[in-house]
Amino acid sequence: MNIHEYQAKELMTKFGVANPPGGVAATAEEAVQVARSLNTKDLVVKAQIHAGGRGKGTFTNGFKGGVKLCTTPEEVGELAGKMLGQTLVTAQTGEAGKLVSKVLVAQSKDIARELYFAIVLDREAQAPVVIVSQRGGVNIEEVAEHHPEDIMRLRIDPALGMQPYEARKLAEALDLKGDLLKPAVKIMSALYTCFIETDCSLVEVNPLVVTKGNEVMALDAKFNFDDNAMFRHPDILAYRDITEEDAREVEASKFGLNYIGLDGNIACLVNGAGLAMGTMDIIQYAGGKPANFLDVGGGANEQQVTEAFKILVSDKNVKAILVNIFGGIMKCDTIAQGIINAVKAVSLPVPLVVRLEGTNVAAGKKLLEESNLPIIAADDLADAAKKVVAAAKK
Ligand code: GDP
Ligand code: MG
Repeated sequence: MNIHEYQAKELMTKFGVANPPGGVAATAEEAVQVARSLNTKDLVVKAQIHAGGRGKGTFTNGFKGGVKLCTTPEEVGELAGKMLGQTLVTAQTGEAGKLVSKVLVAQSKDIARELYFAIVLDREAQAPVVIVSQRGGVNIEEVAEHHPEDIMRLRIDPALGMQPYEARKLAEALDLKGDLLKPAVKIMSALYTCFIETDCSLVEVNPLVVTKGNEVMALDAKFNFDDNAMFRHPDILAYRDITEEDAREVEASKFGLNYIGLDGNIACLVNGAGLAMGTMDIIQYAGGKPANFLDVGGGANEQQVTEAFKILVSDKNVKAILVNIFGGIMKCDTIAQGIINAVKAVSLPVPLVVRLEGTNVAAGKKLLEESNLPIIAADDLADAAKKVVAAAKK
């Protein structure tokens, strides 16, 4: 799960991570009010979307830049008015861009240096790894490509946590010394604590800045959380913004279905994540492209199968559907009945190929045959893939 920058700021403040004061606004008037309450001539307005690269982004109305500095509350209102309700396209949003429905209004800081700081969960290292670079503010992928020597990585022992000497080592790598050492150690330790206690998979502060007033602060923040841990964090779950997520995925999660939207045109309905992966592979092998990954799980009922179908047929890119079920705990005749009901309920705008195998397969196939629905039966996975790829091309 991702959150917005203004929410990340709330979390950081809670954990003692220094960041400039600010507030969120959904209208230009609210933005003016937040700006007034900040009582300063140094202001910044920032579009809130779940993507980075906003500073260099362009709105579809032609307005340039999702991060703008200004000096008066009136200007803040004007800028907010140009961003709100508009779509912002950045290097990270894809061509479609993202709708801006909130802006962050914050005190702007005069920046002396822009640094990079991130903590990621590194599965290979089986530990959190801190990544820092003096080349902050810019695209870190580019730094990694052209100046890999300017990036330092430090594995943190998860049982011990970030030790003060490790924080000092990171500060040294960032050339934060003298008066800056203490606040640097403090902010990095606080970010680490925040990362661990909120079950993050990524915390990225780009830029971490040294201000001209000699403060060390987080000026931007991107947080990713482990979805499987969110039951422990109702306060963070409340930050979820479903308008930022794929509408199909949101709908699927309501019915306990694991759904991931992809950009091909063959929809897959499968039981079990492993089988879903295998199915996607074999579709590709047969020359097709999957439109999604949909795992109805081991114990799906008829209603779930119906909802799954609704999601699949509502996707305009879908040109054919492949149902690939291995009956184990879930019996093939149950799934067949679910498919029949679903097809009757949603009417089928595209060809449907069904491959069933396992428990009660004969009974399942018989049900499908007798249903008189236009279902293309397949004998095995390779046959199913061939048939669905051919059907999608028609
Ligand atoms: P991003 O483009 O989505 O990563 O958004 P950032 O919040 O990182 O802003 C992009 C760039 O705008 C930063 O790297 C800074 O150079 C600049 N910027 C952001 N906030 C401020 C601020 O408060 N003061 C000043 N002077 N520059 C800022
Ligand atoms: Mg940034």
